[in-house]
Amino acid sequence: MGSNEFKTIKDSLPIGVSLLAVSKGHHQESIRKLSGYGQLDFGESRIQEAISKKYELNDLKELRWHFVGTLQKNKVRKVIKEFDFIHSVDSLSLMERISRISQEEQKIPNIFLQVKFRDDPTKGGFFKQDLLKSWPKILSLNNINLIGLMTIPPIALNSYQRKDLFCECRKFANHLGLKHCSMGMSNDWQEAVEGGATWIRLGSLLFGKRQL
Ligand SMILES: *Cc1c(COP(=O)(O)O)cnc(C)c1O
Repeated sequence: MGSNEFKTIKDSLPIGVSLLAVSKGHHQESIRKLSGYGQLDFGESRIQEAISKKYELNDLKELRWHFVGTLQKNKVRKVIKEFDFIHSVDSLSLMERISRISQEEQKIPNIFLQVKFRDDPTKGGFFKQDLLKSWPKILSLNNINLIGLMTIPPIALNSYQRKDLFCECRKFANHLGLKHCSMGMSNDWQEAVEGGATWIRLGSLLFGKRQL
């Protein structure tokens, strides 16, 4: 992607909507190039891949790293050490573990809770009712900066249904007093922005087909 195309997407975003460049599957050179256009937030879903890129990009101190993949329990410490944001916390037990290890590591990660607004066996996430039930417990956890909700619509939804779902996520976040909604990918980011996203997560639209 050239600097003009990148600026066109960036400039089309309303104030208050941030762009996460999901660089999983792409070489560090692509990240370096985009950072040269002013992009600082990058998303990765595989820890080892992210660590080796961070090493090669060590001179770019201002980059912020977001974990967007499925987070396994035994990877929590690594993710807390290497990432500033976690978009994919999908259970209370995972949240409790993050809190405990964040205290040990003296970190305060920025957290999005992943929520499922429709049945979808292919995805993790809290159902609304379960999140409401766990909410007091979640609020009591230390060393967590809980900033918002993250959602991914089921693949079968059309554009209108996606926008409805995104609006539902925005409403639920407001109800919980959370500022941020991380929602919208290359194929539905416009619907997500209309629905009230504050972070959109773009991979292929920025970087093309995945290479790694
Ligand atoms: C890969 C990924 C993206 C980016 O997807 P594209 O369709 O390439 O834009 C966004 N969010 C998550 C959670 C991802 O895993």
